[in-house]
Amino acid sequence: MKAIAVFPGKANSTHLAELPPPALDGVPNGRGVLVRLLRCGVDGTDKEINAAEYGQAPKGCDFLVTGHENFGQVEAVGAAVAEFQPGDYVVATVRRPGSSIYDRIGLYDMTTDDVYFEHGINLLHGFLTEYYVDDPEYLIKVPRGLRDVAVLVEPLSVPEKGILQAYEIQRRLRIWRPRKAAVLGAGTVGLLATMILRLRGLEVTTFGRTEKPYLNSDLVEALGARYLSIRTTPLREAAAHDGPFDLILEATGYSPLVFEAMEALGKNGVLVLASITGGDRKVEVPADKINLGFVLGNKVVVGTVNGNREYFEAAVRDLAQVQAEYPGWAARLLTHPVRGLENYRQLIDTLTTAQGAIKVFMEIAPLDSPGQRGR
Ligand code: BGC
Ligand code: ZN
Repeated sequence: MKAIAVFPGKANSTHLAELPPPALDGVPNGRGVLVRLLRCGVDGTDKEINAAEYGQAPKGCDFLVTGHENFGQVEAVGAAVAEFQPGDYVVATVRRPGSSIYDRIGLYDMTTDDVYFEHGINLLHGFLTEYYVDDPEYLIKVPRGLRDVAVLVEPLSVPEKGILQAYEIQRRLRIWRPRKAAVLGAGTVGLLATMILRLRGLEVTTFGRTEKPYLNSDLVEALGARYLSIRTTPLREAAAHDGPFDLILEATGYSPLVFEAMEALGKNGVLVLASITGGDRKVEVPADKINLGFVLGNKVVVGTVNGNREYFEAAVRDLAQVQAEYPGWAARLLTHPVRGLENYRQLIDTLTTAQGAIKVFMEIAPLDSPGQRGR
């Protein structure tokens, strides 16, 4: 079967690889689920992997099959699988357990191990291919009615975790009724975070770099949230006007904003950090002021990465809710489809150069194709 792969450590090495298809009994005890991939999205992480700034091949392999934003359809199940049947639509989680105590109770997204395993990113092959076999433990069922937008489940699981973790933390307050939220960043994660918070009834201000109007600001406003350009309205100014913010989620990829967000956060507020920043940028910050505000205001800052099945399940529910409440909204994020694994060049070019792209994704097979195993 075909797969899109890189040679980790070698920039721009994206190529088409040929792999043997996986076998159902690759998972022991009749617990295998064979899934045919239908779509797979790409994001900033894939950009970094293509640039050789990130990503490692599986042990004993010189290439890494990329792609983690997966969506597929069950083609066959092992004798001991009752959870799924052929034809079911599924999304697989990205991380796989290591050895820490968190990994052992299904919280592999909270691993304390130094080495972590992520499909399509670190030490495990990804989903830009035709088939995979996995254990039901890592598969989340997606209702058929969501198949058009299901490629958003994995990216949505990331802000779901951040926001659910914030609510979990805020149980310390016995009664927490957040009213105002700020989302920093209006890319895929920022838009999806805006969506989650609006579905929970918060007043949301979302910040992007670009001045409105453009597609992303239209999408923010279509949810009843406010869009502001951080160029014309600095966070501090917005906080004085629209705040204080009870919850802020940072997803710009620009780490200096974290410290501004700490200042813009209201009393008892929670700041969620979700940007992967691989550089070594340095800034000067008003340390006394930030510290004092945190101490006197009982504020919290929390980092968040990845997600376990709980957050994928929340993503599926919220996708269903957004379809009901804002019909057609989610599909507007799917701006740049590329059809066919052999068009891997176009996928990478679109990811790295397309103007105005929100979600770039590969259409590996048609959503309604009759299951056919291409051996
Ligand atoms: C993925 C996460 C992953 C993170 C760090 C993100 O792009 O969506 O699943 O944990 O990168 O590798
Ligand atoms: Zn990702």
